[in-house]
Amino acid sequence: MDLEPGTTRLYRCALCGADTPHRIRGRRGNRYAVVCTNCSGGALIGGDDLWLYQVRWEEELREILTQLTDGDTSRDDR
Ligand SMILES: [Zn+2]
Repeated sequence: MDLEPGTTRLYRCALCGADTPHRIRGRRGNRYAVVCTNCSGGALIGGDDLWLYQVRWEEELREILTQLTDGDTSRDDR
């Protein structure tokens, strides 16, 4: 996966302890320098970790959305 500097990725910030978007500031090898958009705290994260976290988060989001859709019967009305 290619992470362009300037884009953001969701990650758990070690400083403010929240899942926040982190802005990619730079890259060295497979390590990314990211900055929390909430507290401006910097972190160095491996590209694999960043990718795994994103995948996990998207899975959780999909689960929540699926649960919401299951309870919604209005979609059968046309
Ligand atoms: Zn933070």
